[in-house]
Amino acid sequence: MAVLGRGVVPVDTPVLRADDLGVLRGDGIFETLHVRAGKPWLLPEHLARMATSAARLDLELPDAAALTDLAVTACTAWRQDVEGALRLVCTRGPEQGGPVTVFATVGPIPEHMRAARRDGIGVVTATLGVAADARRDAPWLLGGAKSLSYAVNMASQRWAGRHGADDVLWISADGYALEAPTSTLVWLDGTRLCTVPPADTGILAGTTARWLLAHAGALGLTAAERMVRPEDLAATNGVWFTSSVRGCVPVRQLDGSPLPESAHTAAIQQLLGYPV
Ligand code: PLP
Repeated sequence: MAVLGRGVVPVDTPVLRADDLGVLRGDGIFETLHVRAGKPWLLPEHLARMATSAARLDLELPDAAALTDLAVTACTAWRQDVEGALRLVCTRGPEQGGPVTVFATVGPIPEHMRAARRDGIGVVTATLGVAADARRDAPWLLGGAKSLSYAVNMASQRWAGRHGADDVLWISADGYALEAPTSTLVWLDGTRLCTVPPADTGILAGTTARWLLAHAGALGLTAAERMVRPEDLAATNGVWFTSSVRGCVPVRQLDGSPLPESAHTAAIQQLLGYPV
């Protein structure tokens, strides 16, 4: 762990006060990055998204130079030859006022997530309860912000586990696929690599999916943002979940029905540079 202004400290060092609003209300923001060869991947992109999250929560995030220094410092304490997950966290700080609390941790990528790159995952759909465009004009719902309030996300995944699935695909009240609790939906429609438009839907703009779609040309594919209904995914040429930690994972089953295996999975994973 590294703490802003304190450098690397043992991971059991106390960092948060008991009255920190990050703990009391989940009031704060975070980013999770892939650490490869001892360095955080797509750091500028994650810091840009973190700044967007901070603006949406009216949070005084330290500047990008300080956060870059924190991220790089935390990674110096991590092994070069082991891929890792770096978390950057900024909470609102003490309830009675005071500075934000900022720290970074690095840990291993869970083995089941690494295995899923090869084995794929089974997914169940679950409603998020809001229309696809509900968050566009409702800034208090914090669409597009990566806030610390992830209890619903984690509950969704536990619910999926109880139903024999590995993960959830959230569906809007009007029947569109949105995103997963910790990853972005990507699918292949012919030779067009697609994802859901973040600006219109309030989903999180995934850095991995954005990078992948920006480099689709290297795979001989084009890229587009599209709305899709879950029942239409079976007729596509591949469905994946992407995130900084998992990379690109093929979705093999949706609500118990098999999805077509894509010939492009290995090339996408290689392009993204995640070990399989
Ligand atoms: N959507 C949600 C809700 C997430 O929490 C995440 C990542 O944690 C993603 C999508 C994927 O984003 P990224 O590729 O930037 O990791």
